Amino acid sequence: MMSAEHHGVGMTSQRARDRLAETLVKMGIKSGVILDAIRNTPRHLFIDEALSSRAYENTALPIGFNQTISQPYIVAKMTEALIKDRQLKNVLEIGTGCGYQSVIMAQFTKRLYTIERIDALLTRARERFQKLSFTNIRTKHADGNIGWEAQAPFDGIIVAAAPIGVPDALKEQLAMDGRLIIPVGKSGDQKLLLITRTEEGFEEEIIDSVSFVPMLGGIDTT
Ligand code: SAH
Repeated sequence: MMSAEHHGVGMTSQRARDRLAETLVKMGIKSGVILDAIRNTPRHLFIDEALSSRAYENTALPIGFNQTISQPYIVAKMTEALIKDRQLKNVLEIGTGCGYQSVIMAQFTKRLYTIERIDALLTRARERFQKLSFTNIRTKHADGNIGWEAQAPFDGIIVAAAPIGVPDALKEQLAMDGRLIIPVGKSGDQKLLLITRTEEGFEEEIIDSVSFVPMLGGIDTT
């Protein structure tokens, strides 16, 4: 017998996914390819089974270790800002978490490099990438504050945890015209920034008010 997860029953059904996509359209997401990716990606496989009935709600949900799976709207918004008017070859993600944003982003870049500081989360995320046959994702257990020098420069960098200020290493690892999407600021007062590298330096634009978990330093081996 097919398992419920493959059968698409209950709240993991196509109806729940379509409803989520409609919500994102109302909130201003315009890209059809991103809405399709959100619709077709099994978000319930990225969270604990006990929460799977809520997988297609437009909310952040706990994934353990005091971390959360990002709200679908934010994932769509960040991805949209990164892919607008361009083809991406290599993108760096900081804060793999459960890997949901990674598999959305990996559908729009040749290679996705993703860094997570909590080993246990990264191990689970890697299993999901394999299960879902994503062969273009490379992972690293490290502190994302210093980026991934060996794979730089990047066409895009996407950060899923909020530092107080933008780490210099991430700006430096952007290719010319590359874009960095990063939440910055203290809890309760965060802005999502779009930073573009130009011949003259860096352009900065605020694209939203947001609420991310803090970006921490060092690694966690639990
Ligand atoms: N991208 C995830 C959201 C993860 S939440 C999703 O799709 O749902 C943010 C993640 O950033 C957490 O897993 C946290 O452990 C990680 N993180 C925080 N500071 C970090 C750092 N300095 N380096 C790497 N990962 C970090």
